Amino acid sequence: MEINHKLKHFLATIPENVKLIAISKTKPAEDIMEAYNAGQRLFGENKIQELIVKAPQLPGDIQWHFVGHLQTNKVKFIAPFVKMIHAVDSLKLLKEINKHALKYDRVIDCLLQFHIAEETTKFGLNLKEADDLLSNDELTNLKNIQIVGVMGMATYTDDMEQVRNEFEHLANYMVTLKKKFFIDDHYFKEISMGMSGDYLIAIEEGSTMIRIGTMIFGEQNY
Ligand SMILES: *Cc1c(COP(=O)(O)O)cnc(C)c1O
Repeated sequence: MEINHKLKHFLATIPENVKLIAISKTKPAEDIMEAYNAGQRLFGENKIQELIVKAPQLPGDIQWHFVGHLQTNKVKFIAPFVKMIHAVDSLKLLKEINKHALKYDRVIDCLLQFHIAEETTKFGLNLKEADDLLSNDELTNLKNIQIVGVMGMATYTDDMEQVRNEFEHLANYMVTLKKKFFIDDHYFKEISMGMSGDYLIAIEEGSTMIRIGTMIFGEQNY
């Protein structure tokens, strides 16, 4: 099936209030244009080098989401244009994003990444770490970032009950943080969870943003 058909087919299966981030990593600009021409405007990439090569070739009204691990020394490359950074897991990174966003007089939306999977990875916060980060006084000085929600990736497994549990945890963290730190902040509302293999469960558990690559563009070309 063509990308535009896959996209339309896909959009028909998800609720209207769930935003689709089309993950275009490893795919050429032509594929992105095909989805764009079918109406898609939110795209995600996980490699800085790839994003900064592709973005200038594509229409300016695309909202670019960076969904990969971001090193502080790479922030400067995407600060002029990136809409949202999904995987923020330190105050140091937030400060760096703020510093570069300020130069361009922009506010960059950020999500706090949680480690919800059983796999060991060095990325992602637990609730205590997120609580510490959000309690830090330095955060109030960062006017050029806005923390708009949370993000997480479930374990890569066939055990869908486990996946469901992990998403449920993330949704609970969201509620906890909302009550403690963002009670009057309407913008703190996003839960970025769900990929091609688990998005239906993610939506059932309260996802507001799903990050879908394979189901729209086909297998990644590594
Ligand atoms: C690649 C990727 C996705 C999309 O994965 P698919 O299984 O192709 O839908 C989502 N989120 C992140 C962080 C990714 O790196």
